Amino acid sequence: MSVTSQLRKVFEVDQLISGLQSRLTSADRFHGEQQRQLDEMDAKISSIETETKKSKLQQSSLEKEAAALEAKMATLREAMGSARTNKEYSTFLGELNALKAQKDEKDKSQIELMEKAEAATAQIAEINTKRAERVAMVAKAGEERAKRQSEIASKLAELQSKRDTLAKDLAPSELALLAELIDRLGENAMAKVDEIDRRNHEWACSSCMRALPVQAISMILKGQLTRCSNCTCILFADDDQDVGAKKVKKKEAAEQL
Ligand SMILES: [Zn+2]
Repeated sequence: MSVTSQLRKVFEVDQLISGLQSRLTSADRFHGEQQRQLDEMDAKISSIETETKKSKLQQSSLEKEAAALEAKMATLREAMGSARTNKEYSTFLGELNALKAQKDEKDKSQIELMEKAEAATAQIAEINTKRAERVAMVAKAGEERAKRQSEIASKLAELQSKRDTLAKDLAPSELALLAELIDRLGENAMAKVDEIDRRNHEWACSSCMRALPVQAISMILKGQLTRCSNCTCILFADDDQDVGAKKVKKKEAAEQL
C-alpha cells in the first residue's frame, strides 16, 4: 500500500475521532456556559450584599447623628423657654432652625438608604429565582456531558487502537506532516484529485480547485506522496480514478516526444 493510501486511512480515522470528540466539546461548552452564567449571578448577588452592608453602616451612623442633633435641639428648646430677651430668643430660634435643617437632611438620607436596601433585597430575590433555574441547568448539562463521555469512550478507544495499528506502518515524519496539515487545514488536510476534463487531461485539487500539472497526477498514481502546490494538502486519487492512469501515461509519453 502506498504512503498516501496509508495516510488516507489514518486521516479517515482521525476525522472519526475528531467527530466524536466534537460531540463532547459541544456538551462541554454548553456546561461551561451554564456554569459561567451561574457564577455571574453569584458575583452579582455578592456585590449587592456588599453594597447593602455598606448602606446599613451608613444608615446606623446617620441615625446616631440625627439623635445627637435631636438632643441638641431639645437643649435649645429648653434654653428658649428661659430666654430673657427677644434678641436671645431669636438667636436660639435661628440655631434651632439650622439644627432642624441638618436633621431633616439626615432623615432624608436615611429614607433614601432604606429604599435602596429594599430595592437590593428585591433584586436579590429576583436573581435567586433565576439562579435556581440555572443551578438545575448546570446539573443537567453536567449529566449530559458525562453521558456523552461514556457513550463515546468505548468507540474512541476502538478508533484509537485502530489508528495506532495504522500509524505503525508510517514514518514519524509522515505522521507529523499529516498532523500539521490537519491542524492547519482541518478536513482539507487531504484532498481528492478532481477530473475536470478527461479528454484534455485536466485535473484540479478538489480542496482549492487549483489546476494540477500532469506530473503531479503521474506521481499520485505511482503512489508517491504529492502535495498541492497551492493549498499544500496531500493529494490522492480515488480507486476509480485508476482509469485515468493509462491516460496519464499516454499524455506523459506524448509530452516527452
Ligand atoms: Zn489545493
